[in-house]
Amino acid sequence: MKVQKFGGTSVGSPQRMKEVAQLITAEKKNIVVLSAMSGTTNSLVEIADYFKKRNVEAANSVIGKLRAKYMDHLPNLYSKQETIDKTRAFLEEQFQALHDYTSVPFDDNVGKAILSHGEIMSTNMVTNYLCEQGVKTMLIPALDFMRIAENGEPDMAFIGTKLKEILKANPDYDLYITQGFICMNSSNHIDNLQRGGSDYTACLIGAVLRCEEIQIWTDIDGMHNNDPRVVDNTTPVRQLNFEEAAELAYFGAKILHPTCIQPARYAGVPVRLLNTMCPSAPGTLINNDMQLGSIKAVAAKDNITAIKIVSSRMLLATGFLRKVFEIFETYNTSIDMVTTSEVGVSLSIDDTSHLAAIVEKLKQYGTVEVDENMCIICVVGDLRWSNVGFETIATDALSEVPVRMISYGGSNHNISFLIREEDKAKALCALSAHLFKAAN
Ligand code: ASP
Ligand code: MG
Repeated sequence: MKVQKFGGTSVGSPQRMKEVAQLITAEKKNIVVLSAMSGTTNSLVEIADYFKKRNVEAANSVIGKLRAKYMDHLPNLYSKQETIDKTRAFLEEQFQALHDYTSVPFDDNVGKAILSHGEIMSTNMVTNYLCEQGVKTMLIPALDFMRIAENGEPDMAFIGTKLKEILKANPDYDLYITQGFICMNSSNHIDNLQRGGSDYTACLIGAVLRCEEIQIWTDIDGMHNNDPRVVDNTTPVRQLNFEEAAELAYFGAKILHPTCIQPARYAGVPVRLLNTMCPSAPGTLINNDMQLGSIKAVAAKDNITAIKIVSSRMLLATGFLRKVFEIFETYNTSIDMVTTSEVGVSLSIDDTSHLAAIVEKLKQYGTVEVDENMCIICVVGDLRWSNVGFETIATDALSEVPVRMISYGGSNHNISFLIREEDKAKALCALSAHLFKAAN
């Protein structure tokens, strides 16, 4: 059994839904995770926001536009009037439910419930299409098994037990469809796994069922060795170790939700990134293997702020770093990069919502300097310290770029540079030219 996840663009129109149907019926017994049709979750966020602001008229107008769009899809998707009628009735109920939120006081739970309708609609539409095509398809409601615990983390035991129970009770289907993104929480309210969370749903299912493979289908040919929006001639990376992929996803590769592959990694289930536009292309395989002796890819993360704290009191003092880190912890601000010297420490953050307060507190411990509009460049591959010369190739590539911080040795898989955002394109191009010459 495999898990196959298709994102919003892959189910973004009746035509794309039909293409997905073709892909997923090539094999039997897989579980298919679908996102909402592209743009829908954004519209639902807008609707929720209007309800929150008590602008019912605007909310109803956005709902009306969304409804019209969905109704237009029906004759293009189905060939039988019976399926059109059945799906229309279902969608009407969904849009009515959205209008009905007018009559309840808005709170967080209502907002999250509103967001859940996108995936509920897309999965219903695709399931009805498959049934019309004669495929024995079961739609498993994600809200019946996907659950987060009180701490917001997935309740793996519950998810595993419930899903296995459902599958065991329904063995006679060729295909199982479910919603990405949405879940229940520990107070029994509808919740979600954060924006872009459908990847996470797929990986959680793959992990609890110990599936053969988790496939994430998008419209690009796997993870590229550099940012294709900035650098020409990037090429897809064929294989990545879980940790390499996590670094790349966190540091800018948009193709995968950064936290999502952790459950797959713990369960040892390989994740494959595939392209709906070119289904036969090999894509990128993410697993536990570590290809020795190669640098795989480069990614960049913008909007980074660097903070330097210098104090002669740090010299030979114990507890200085702890005090500094505690301040960031108090403000729930996570640190990405750290470098130290005898008299100072530099670190980088991307969430600046508490920057002023943090700087204020840091001033107790030393002189504080802040550099904004910075960018982290992350180079990923076999960067074990015993591997002579690799960090030098990366630093050599940046010989023309002012580098604010370098972080190396934190893991076996990466070296990161903090540079000015305005130097990003130059740095990424130089790294591609130096590191992937042979590949291009
Ligand atoms: N539909 C949700 C979103 O747009 C989840 C996803 O697509 O992964 O964020
Ligand atoms: Mg996505």
